[in-house]
Amino acid sequence: MRLVQTVKAMHELANHERRAGKSLALVPTMGALHRGHLALVEEAKKRADHVTVSIFVNPTQFGPNEDYSQYPRQLDADQSLLRELGGVDLLFAPTVQEFYPFGVANYLSWITVDRLDEHLCGRFRPGHFRGVTTVVSKLFNSCKPHLGVFGLKDAQQYLILQRMVSELSMDVSVVGSPTIREADGLALSSRNRYLSIEERRQSVVVSRAVSRARQMVEEGEQRVEAIVEAMLDILGEAPSAQVQYAEVVETETIQPIKTIQPGQEVLAAVAVFFGKTRLIDSSFSVSPI
Ligand code: AMP
Repeated sequence: MRLVQTVKAMHELANHERRAGKSLALVPTMGALHRGHLALVEEAKKRADHVTVSIFVNPTQFGPNEDYSQYPRQLDADQSLLRELGGVDLLFAPTVQEFYPFGVANYLSWITVDRLDEHLCGRFRPGHFRGVTTVVSKLFNSCKPHLGVFGLKDAQQYLILQRMVSELSMDVSVVGSPTIREADGLALSSRNRYLSIEERRQSVVVSRAVSRARQMVEEGEQRVEAIVEAMLDILGEAPSAQVQYAEVVETETIQPIKTIQPGQEVLAAVAVFFGKTRLIDSSFSVSPI
C-alpha cells in the first residue's frame, strides 16, 4: 500500500491504472478507522481491481461549533490497520493545504444538492452536506474511481451523493454498504470513544429505536406519528439521551410524510446527544403491499 499526498501524484497513479484496464474503487473516510470502515474496504475489494482509501478530515463539512479541531487524527495507526487488512493499493491522504490551496475561508467552488438537506442532519448542521458533496467531488476528481463505497449509517449522505452523481452525470457509482454494529447494536463510529461508561451503556437505545421503526413499517404500520412516538419512547428510556431529531422521511425527497403508502420505501433516522457526543443511526424499510 502506497501513501499518496498530492493530487498530482494521485492523478498520475489513477490514470496509469485506468490505462491498464483496471476498475478503480474509492473508500472515502476521515480516518480513526474501525471495523465499519474496514467493511467498506472489503466491499470495494469485491467490486474492483484496485482500491484506494482516502483519509481527510474535511474542514468545510464541520460547523463553527463542531468538533473539527478535536476530531481524532491517527494516520500512522490507520496506515498499519490497512496494511494488516491487506488488499488496499493506495492510501490518499492530502493535507488541508493541498485540497484548499487558497485557504478554507477563501474557498469558492462549491457543489450543492438542493432541498435534500432540509431535514434530518441537514436541518441541524447548516452547510454540512455542501462540504460533503464538495469534498467527495474533489476526491472523485482526484482518484478517478469507477465506484465509491459509502456507509448506509450516514443514510442522508448516501442519498445525497447518489443524487449528486446522477444529476451531475458523473461517471462513478455510489455504492452503499450496511452498518457495522457492536454486539449490543450500537453502530460503530469514530466518536463512540468519547462516551463515558454509563453513556455507552445507555446508548443502546439509539439502535433499538431505529430497528423498532423498521419492524413497525415492515409489519404494516402506516402512521408515521405512531412510529416516531415509539422511537421517542425507546430513546426516553436513557436518562442521558438528548434527542436532536427522530424522523421518518421518504427516501427520494428526504421530506417528512404523515402516512406511509403500501410499497413505499422510507428512512427512519435519529440523532441523539449523550453529553457532547452526537450519535446518529437510521434504518431503511419498505412498507408491505
Ligand atoms: P467517517 O470516517 O466517519 O466519515 O466515515 C467514512 C465512511 O465510513 C462513511 O461512508 C461512513 O458512512 C462509513 N461508516 C462509518 N461508520 C460505519 C459503520 N459503523 N458501518 C458502516 N459504515 C460506516
